[in-house]
Amino acid sequence: MSKKTFVTLEQIKEIVKTYPTPFHLYDEAGLRANAQAVKEAFSWNKGFREYFAVKAEPNPFIMEILKEYGCGADCSSLTELMLSEKVGMTGDDIMFSSNDTPPEEFVKAKEMNAIINLDDFTHIEYFERVAGEFPKTMCLRYNPGGVYQLSNGIMDNPGDSKYGLTKDQLIEGYRILKEKGVERFGLHAFLVSNTVTNDYYPTLAKTLFELCLEIREKAGVTINFVNLSGGVGIAYQPDQTPNDIYAIGAGVERVYNEVLVPAGMGDVAIFTEMGRFMTGPYGCLVTQAIHEKHTYKEYIGVDACAADLMRPAMYGAYHHITVAGKEDAPCTKMYDVTGSLCENNDKFAIDRMLPEIEMGDYLIIHDTGAHGYAMGYNYNGRLKSAELLLQTDGTARLIRRAETPKDYFATFDCFEQYKDLS
Ligand SMILES: *Cc1c(COP(=O)(O)O)cnc(C)c1O
Repeated sequence: MSKKTFVTLEQIKEIVKTYPTPFHLYDEAGLRANAQAVKEAFSWNKGFREYFAVKAEPNPFIMEILKEYGCGADCSSLTELMLSEKVGMTGDDIMFSSNDTPPEEFVKAKEMNAIINLDDFTHIEYFERVAGEFPKTMCLRYNPGGVYQLSNGIMDNPGDSKYGLTKDQLIEGYRILKEKGVERFGLHAFLVSNTVTNDYYPTLAKTLFELCLEIREKAGVTINFVNLSGGVGIAYQPDQTPNDIYAIGAGVERVYNEVLVPAGMGDVAIFTEMGRFMTGPYGCLVTQAIHEKHTYKEYIGVDACAADLMRPAMYGAYHHITVAGKEDAPCTKMYDVTGSLCENNDKFAIDRMLPEIEMGDYLIIHDTGAHGYAMGYNYNGRLKSAELLLQTDGTARLIRRAETPKDYFATFDCFEQYKDLS
């Protein structure tokens, strides 16, 4: 099995004339087709809305494209709120799904009329203390505890996760919020991450829809929207079958008709907060081979490092690699592909079979469109790369410039003796 790239060697050669490697490149056509598919897959639900998880790819140009397809933004920090505001998203366009939230962020979210999703029972009292009266709409995040397992064995451990309220807290929470004048209620849960199965959303939806009935019975509160949050995965590995968003939408519709409609709750809106699924496959990191090293192993050193893409170093995550122009060449060589950090985990691939790599070859690291650039950092004084959009006409547009030393030193600008660095 192979994974296709959305950019060719010829296009890369053209792009590097203006923008040197390394850079993250995004596929506008792919982003658009996928956003359209998401919209269609849930069009059976009148109130459906995808709130793009901004943390996955916090770039206003990408957010503007998704906005054209009706997407709002899922934010969890002050700067994500500011970014969303800047691209014209306010009020119901924003879900504020934060945790361990500082007071000023609740205040800002309330000022923007964002839909606020509380992560804890104590946040009810906390919110009121720091931000005053509750908005008319409030959402609560559920954590069922224990282990959450899907039919194909994929599972996660909500019982070990820091997020959400227990069921008893949830029911009590809705009761309190209602007493305090809240009129529109949401229920949210994020139980399993990066699920490569069409079953996750339907299974989660069934859990949450049944809980809606219990909340109505025990708290006297009717839920207006169910937020399935993120967790829809992508096929990082070449042998994985990608999720089918139409099957996922139809699966949610089936349980909606089974559970909610007969209970007279056929007007509940479905919200999602997908990040990875919206942008992951539509981004790649383009980097050049600059060193080869033959010691106890064969190494290829590239001009990108974990500062540009942290997932392999942090989680040992697999990212497929294509050597541009050698798409059909046999994978006859085993390499570790490394970055330059003084950290031995700065490897994009370990013992990876690839075509023979020559110095100057461009490597395309796949599926970096979500939690890629966004997780970048500045260890070793490494500067974050540029972001480019490969537009539908085949030309590249700069959507974030690369960092310069000036950016790195900017936080010393208040010190007279170091001002000249910044
Ligand atoms: C990270 C996150 C998401 C997005 O998750 P993906 O796995 O990228 O879809 C959505 N909602 C919340 C609250 C998150 O923390």
